[in-house]
Amino acid sequence: MSEAVQLKSKTFQGDEEGPHFLITGGVHGDECEPIFAIHALTELFEAKQRQGDLAMRGRVTLVPCVNEPAFWRGARTAEDGLDLARTCPGKPDGSITERTAHALSELIRSADFYIDLHTGGSIYDIYPLAGYCLHKDPVILDHQRRMAAAFNLPLVWGTTPNLNGRSLSVARDADVPAIYCEYGGRWSGQRQDATSAYFEGCLNVLAEVGLIDHPHDAGQVRHVVEDPRDSSGHLQVQHPSPIDGLFVPLAYLGDLIEKGGVFGEVIDPFSGKREVVRSLQTGIVLLLRAMPTVRKGDALMAVAENP
Ligand SMILES: [Zn+2]
Repeated sequence: MSEAVQLKSKTFQGDEEGPHFLITGGVHGDECEPIFAIHALTELFEAKQRQGDLAMRGRVTLVPCVNEPAFWRGARTAEDGLDLARTCPGKPDGSITERTAHALSELIRSADFYIDLHTGGSIYDIYPLAGYCLHKDPVILDHQRRMAAAFNLPLVWGTTPNLNGRSLSVARDADVPAIYCEYGGRWSGQRQDATSAYFEGCLNVLAEVGLIDHPHDAGQVRHVVEDPRDSSGHLQVQHPSPIDGLFVPLAYLGDLIEKGGVFGEVIDPFSGKREVVRSLQTGIVLLLRAMPTVRKGDALMAVAENP
């Protein structure tokens, strides 16, 4: 029997009773700003605790790096090649990613609210967004909408509730209001803007659901898009490259793009032949491939589309 995975976490218990709030980073091993943001939260709560001033109604659990084996590989996945965000709820006696998924799922079920922090990793660059599934329970959906708006990133994005294997699908099945966030990527190490926005965003949401007092507004939110179609929310399959080659983006994250609008070119490195790539949808450019080398079929771009 394989060993159970113990997630490394810190829990802060407030003076007053209240909900259990879970925040995770590092579900993918090549996403580092969530780790820094969660450490900044840990330092803040530790400092307040030392001053005897942890005014909190409830308890917060912080997990900076869920997928430790993937992190040590500097890759999205651990050595078994399974994407943790497609493997939940996992198995207690499976491969390393299945066991990590099992431990994460147990923790999510113990929570009353949940935020999962991501980035585009080493391959993609993503427009800053707070996302949620369009939950069938209107009370949970309302919580998720308020949490996503309070996080205060430019895009608030509700998508199909029918995606499985993710941290958010475990939360959906356990009726735990949950959001995920995306910001930048490229394994850039230290994007201070992403780290600060995540730190501030988490405090905003903790305040929104009543755990702490923290003045906040939703002044950075520019777009609210809800798309219940089953294709929505699955970023790694959209606008596949027509050929092997080098991708040159000709659009920027956050641009409004029309169906048929050019968003880039893929260039064959040997012949120099160029293939123009055009948007299949009208909406906001949400994701762009950041790694230039691309294989036929790899995703180049994704759009947040108002159906
Ligand atoms: Zn991720």
